[in-house]
Amino acid sequence: MKKLLALAALIGPSLLAAEPLRVVTSIPDHAALVRAIGGGEVETESIIKGNRDVHAVELLPSFMVKVGRADLYVKVGMDLDLWAQSIIDGSRNGKLIVVDASAGVEKLEVPTFKVDASYGDLHIYGNPHYWLDPGTIRAQGEAIFAGLVRVRPASAATFRANLDAYVQKVDAALKGWQARLAPFAGTQVISFHTSWPYFAQRFGIQVVDFMEPKPGVSPTPTHIAALTERLKGGQVKAILMESYFDDRVPQMLSRTTGVPLVKVPVLVGAAPGVDDQLALFEAITTSLATALGGGH
Ligand SMILES: [Zn+2]
Repeated sequence: MKKLLALAALIGPSLLAAEPLRVVTSIPDHAALVRAIGGGEVETESIIKGNRDVHAVELLPSFMVKVGRADLYVKVGMDLDLWAQSIIDGSRNGKLIVVDASAGVEKLEVPTFKVDASYGDLHIYGNPHYWLDPGTIRAQGEAIFAGLVRVRPASAATFRANLDAYVQKVDAALKGWQARLAPFAGTQVISFHTSWPYFAQRFGIQVVDFMEPKPGVSPTPTHIAALTERLKGGQVKAILMESYFDDRVPQMLSRTTGVPLVKVPVLVGAAPGVDDQLALFEAITTSLATALGGGH
């Protein structure tokens, strides 16, 4: 026994260092960010995978098992992934550290009035689709960094260096994406869901209406009729659509009005080749610029 303990003391630290830190995230975009910051010291997995709606997730027992084994959970926050709390509670993991990636993000569309059910799926903490602005990656990364350091303080310097290098890379790419959309500053578009206020602010696009009459409510014939009239007016240059929605109604609207439909992924992994955050913004800005440029 004594011998074993001595052996453990001897090899303990190196074994501990080799053991990966386990992180579960709600969305793949945060898993990508965790990988960028944690490097080889983390193993991370997202609950949502692929081209899915982030607002609603079917709770599978396997999610609780995953989170039961995890060191850290990264939530989107702002009430978007309320389902994450059910997974966390169900995991019965007393030592789990939970991080809210929205903590340091400057929030948009925070209601100044009392929200009730008549507003549809409106979030009381503001619009939660902040990850569609690459300019918020620093703030998201700081929250994740703090969580990783709580689990493994000894690696703080490595995590800090990784985060800084990653943000630098994103910021450099952001200049290119902004240049790509700069010719379309002030351009009016409509979107399917209200996923775009952060993106629109960053890139100077104006989202003037939505296919959903209220957030989370499917388009109604009356609303589509009103949108058709609006699009025929010629001011709106594109219909921006999150790729997880059924595109039959937007296609029809595009055909009858001649306004191009731009179907884009809003999550890492939601389209072929969109394997990280850089690829996601590359895909969105390219699709939008191509549609708005009308082939120029
Ligand atoms: Zn939403």
